[in-house]
Formats: sequence, C-alpha cells, structure tokens
Amino acid sequence: MNLRWTVHELRLHHPFTIARGSSMTRRVVVTELEHDGIVGRGEAAPIARYGETVESVLHFLSTFDLSRFPDPFALDAVLGAADAHHAGNAAAKTAIDLALHDWIGQRVGLPLWKYWGLDPASAPVTSFTIGIDAPEIVEQKVREAEGFSILKIKLGGEDDRAIIRAVRRATDRLIRVDANEGWKKKEDAVEKIRWLEQEGVEFVEQPMPAEDIAATAWVRDRVTMPLIADENSLRLHDVPGLMGAFDGINIKLMKCTGLREAHRMIATARACRMKVMIGCMIETSVGITAAAHLTPLLDYADLDGNLLIENDPFVGVRVENGRLILPDHPGLGVHPRD
Ligand code: MG
Repeated sequence: MNLRWTVHELRLHHPFTIARGSSMTRRVVVTELEHDGIVGRGEAAPIARYGETVESVLHFLSTFDLSRFPDPFALDAVLGAADAHHAGNAAAKTAIDLALHDWIGQRVGLPLWKYWGLDPASAPVTSFTIGIDAPEIVEQKVREAEGFSILKIKLGGEDDRAIIRAVRRATDRLIRVDANEGWKKKEDAVEKIRWLEQEGVEFVEQPMPAEDIAATAWVRDRVTMPLIADENSLRLHDVPGLMGAFDGINIKLMKCTGLREAHRMIATARACRMKVMIGCMIETSVGITAAAHLTPLLDYADLDGNLLIENDPFVGVRVENGRLILPDHPGLGVHPRD
C-alpha cells in the first residue's frame, strides 16, 4: 500500500472563537491510500490542545511505513502498528484509518453505513455551532443559521449570560451549550448550569477542566441537565472512568484515532449506559462524511465543521434542514469538488 498526502488551507466564513482562542484559517492534511487501482481518502485535522500540528502529522505519516502491509483489509494489523508507532498523534492515525475504511468500502462496493448494517434514515439531526463572539454578533449568526433546528452555543467566558440572552432574542430553537472547560470553579458551574436549565438548554458539554473529573461529578450531583464529556473523552480507555461524572460522551474521530476505535467507544459507552454524540473539528467533507456514517448509531450529531469553511475541496455528506443525508456511493462516498 502507498500513502500520499496534501496539506489544505481552509478559509473560514467567520473567525471561529472558543474558550481557548480564535482563528480565520485552518490547515488539514488529506491522505490518499492507493492500492490495486482504488484510492481511499482520509484526513487529519490536528488539535493543538493535544499537541498535534500539521507538521507533527506530516512527520508521523512520513515515518510510518505502510508499504510493509500488503492488505488494506488487515485493519487490526495496520492500525495496531500505527497506534504503536508513536504515542498521541490521534489525528495522524485517523488519516490512515479513514483511508483504509474508504478503500475497503470501495472494494466491496458498499457505502460504509451499509457495510456496517446501519439505516441512514435514523441519522440524527445535526446541530450547528455558534462560536464565542460579542452578543450582537451571536444574535446575527443565530439568525443566519435559520436552516438548523438545533444550535450548539460556545460558552466558557465572562459573557455567558449575555450570549444566551442574545440567542434567545433571535430564536426559541433547541440549544446545546459547550463550555470547552471554561468554567473553573465548580460552584460557578452549578450556578450557570441551573440558569441554563431555565433557558431551554438540552445539555452542556465539558463544563469543567478535564483534569478535574471529581469536580465534574460534584457538579453533576447538583444539576439535572445532562453533562457530556468532550475533552475528557479522547479514547476508548477513557470511557469507563467517566461514569458518575458525565451522562454521555462526545466522540471525535480526530481525538480517538478513527472509525475503528470510535465503534469500540460507542459499544463501551452503551455498556456504561451513557449517551453518545459525535462531534468534529473544522474538517473537509472527507472527515465529516466519515463521522456521518456512524450517526445512525448515535443520540446526537454535531457535524458542521465542513459548513464553516468557504473552500471545502470535497463533496460528501449533505445537510438538508439539519438532516444528514449520507452518500450512497461506496466507501466514504466523497469526491473532489469540481
Ligand atoms: Mg466540545
């Protein structure tokens, strides 16, 4: 098997701000695995929070020798070796995992959802994310997002209440909140969540810093709104330890090394009686479509990363009134935009 890769600079429609910072462009790496006349595509959207950059992805891909593996169907052997190659590097590993899955789907002639036995009609509606901004800008962004019935509002700063009031001036739609670890004191987190409970918020993602699971459990005992782990839910081995502190997990392919491990996380979370959501980074339609193939298994989807960019080089999953329309083409079902 041969792997090649291209760096893409994605331009965003709006500067994207969360509790940790702000940006106008994002770079990702798109991989192509060619074998036996079939090209499978993957993507790495590196997450700075976990020490990955485009440069570290390129280093990983250029030092992991895929040519010693003759068979793309040997997922366990290839992905096990990739995982052992270097610790961390989850997005780089995802770029290999997705390319293998895309290749396999094309070879057997089935879209991945069908290969996995799923019903695309049961894919949940996706939310659309509104980044942190001045309340009047938030209000305007909410009005612009009228095609989406569920909004995910980024909080985690001083203006949280003003932001939610701005959202509520514009809409009575269902909203979800992502604090991105922004609430540092557990007493403050409880107070904010109780206030959000009055504002029609369905759940809150990662209210407290990831290193303080005990504080999150303390908060959970004092609120009724479900808490969903994101920065605390990176890989399979994280899931059992979240019981009691969280009601569900947010899986992202770029955190967990790809579709193979995502399947295992879903099964483990279900065994722990937890809800499962799938989220994303700012990614092209390659990464977003891969995640979308899992959504019939899940409670919540937050797959809008490709919608935030002006120059998505690919076409794959579509969104109609918030509904994810999974491709019928084999594999991921993505192709370059002409
Ligand atoms: Mg999050």
